[in-house]
Amino acid sequence: MTLRIGIDLGGTKTELVALDTEGQERYRIRVPTPSNDYAALIACIVTLVTDAEHQLGASASIGIGVPGSPSPATSLMRNANTQCLNGKPFQQDLSDALQREVHLANDANCFALSEAIDGAGRGAQVVFGVILGTGTGGGVVINQQVLKGRNAIGGEWGHNPLPWPTAAELPGIQCFCGKRGCIETFVSGTGFARDHQLQTGEKLSALEITQRADASDPQALATLARYYDRLARALASVINVLDPDVVVLGGGMSRYQPLYLQLTQRLPSYVFSDCFTTPILPAVHGDASGVRGAAWLWPG
Ligand SMILES: [Zn+2]
Repeated sequence: MTLRIGIDLGGTKTELVALDTEGQERYRIRVPTPSNDYAALIACIVTLVTDAEHQLGASASIGIGVPGSPSPATSLMRNANTQCLNGKPFQQDLSDALQREVHLANDANCFALSEAIDGAGRGAQVVFGVILGTGTGGGVVINQQVLKGRNAIGGEWGHNPLPWPTAAELPGIQCFCGKRGCIETFVSGTGFARDHQLQTGEKLSALEITQRADASDPQALATLARYYDRLARALASVINVLDPDVVVLGGGMSRYQPLYLQLTQRLPSYVFSDCFTTPILPAVHGDASGVRGAAWLWPG
């Protein structure tokens, strides 16, 4: 039996899944990420893999999805919001610790790959996958292959500035990347909750805001209206370049169903075309897309 292990290294949780050749899950575990301690993080992954292979009674290929990416120039990690990774030769250290080659990709690329292979983008030639969670990531998959890009930043659209900004949206808040007003600071779940707090003074989770909106709370509805329009602008800027066959949304914000009708209604006014038919769909594999995509980093 050929097994693929995928690992999704998240900011708060690390998940491991083992898939068989049919894509069926044979094993799954989720643990807290030791996100401030690099050595503990490597040790945690080694333990997860060792335990999984012991349970399965077989060795497996290892793919891992990470925030950020290794620099093509130095192989050192950069752009990760789990900041203990930055500046580290993570792929090499992990390969050494696991005593085998490890395939590694940006977590949003893993998400997009999973949805392109057997998720909402199945059968589509060009898939743009977007994670709207703690942060915002994007990944492009063409013919079921991740478009990594020459500088290994393919699909990294979250750190472009918010398109068509209003005066009130400028200059935008400081982003961890060093710039101000990044798309991520507006359309991540974190950014959504922060915007609500900035406008109302009330600190609520993204879920609480959507629940209040569902109960017709006017302030929560206003926060959502700003969010819909910002996300539509941000997606339109990608659609105007890539014109993907499908856009797949994942992460916490993607679970809010009214988003899809709102985006479909708002996107045409920003997309440079007289017709707009691009499906905007929720991820089929939900939170499991990242970890499944990491497993698929080893082709069959
Ligand atoms: Zn940024």
